[in-house]
Amino acid sequence: MATYYDGANIIKVPKEAIPRCPKCDRRLETIWSKNQWKPIRGSRDIFMCPHCEVFLGYGFIG
Ligand SMILES: [Zn+2]
Repeated sequence: MATYYDGANIIKVPKEAIPRCPKCDRRLETIWSKNQWKPIRGSRDIFMCPHCEVFLGYGFIG
């Protein structure tokens, strides 16, 4: 099911699509994660490109 936002049609990414690093433009078949801190519930990780080590973002695993 498509979602419309501000005139854009937002759909699920195809399974075969592999994201690219915004800095080095290489395919991210692997993404590094590093534990940032551990609050009461769960843990937060930072994600990095394994090729150029740029910071990609924050997130939760598990
Ligand atoms: Zn990179």
